[in-house]
Amino acid sequence: MNPDCQHVREMMDSYLAEELSVETNHGVLRHLGECRDCAAELKRRQRLRALLSQTLDVAVDADRVSARISQAVDREQRSWGRVARLAGVAATLVAAVAIAYWAGRPVDAAAYDDSAEDHIVCALAYPEDATYDRDRAAQNLASPFERIADAIGLSHGAYDVIDAHMCPYKGRNYAHVVIRGKKGETLSLFAERAERGALPAAPTTVLAGDTLPVHATTRLGYGVSAVATRDHRIFLVFERPTDPPDVAQEILRSAVRFIRGLEK
Ligand SMILES: [Zn+2]
Ligand SMILES: [Zn+2]
Repeated sequence: MNPDCQHVREMMDSYLAEELSVETNHGVLRHLGECRDCAAELKRRQRLRALLSQTLDVAVDADRVSARISQAVDREQRSWGRVARLAGVAATLVAAVAIAYWAGRPVDAAAYDDSAEDHIVCALAYPEDATYDRDRAAQNLASPFERIADAIGLSHGAYDVIDAHMCPYKGRNYAHVVIRGKKGETLSLFAERAERGALPAAPTTVLAGDTLPVHATTRLGYGVSAVATRDHRIFLVFERPTDPPDVAQEILRSAVRFIRGLEK
């Protein structure tokens, strides 16, 4: 992408949010008049924003989510499969909100969708060269999850933790651990208090050597393995099974051990 386009793409979400100065606004408009690619990209982001504003109650949230989705698309623009999947996210947001509304209290109907969406808008937006920074993680985690990354283990063979933070998403307050494999694939481990009720029914498996039921499902093209403890829910979101598969089990099991420790 040429530097002008790159520059305009970076400012596009601020442009849509009407946050730019008059001069900068002019510069963007001039480029859009001359560049069909950027004009098309603007249309796409406008559609996404409109869709998100209809779905999410808070306009500010829609801005943030839409900016993050755009970043993720920019980062992976050569992957059309990913772009299609992201377009699907906007559509399923509508469904997820409707289901959550109608299902009432007892079952947290949007539990799997929300974790898959947050994986896309947050974890996939991490730059390729992101590495774990202990101080940054300490600053961005909050009680009682301060130790979650250490408890899970920063390194698992070909997989490393690259960040941990509190990750507010659609009214949830996830503790989010972002893990990246040597082949570039990204995994997310989320933990949240079980304030919205039980996990929706999904096929269950049991972790090897354990009596821990794992709800296994697929959302938005990502695998989600979920475990319910007494007061919390834990979700592992991944693009494809880890290599070897034991790594995912190990991560999930350490997370469960840590969360159960908090509940004592
Ligand atoms: Zn351009
Ligand atoms: Zn996050």
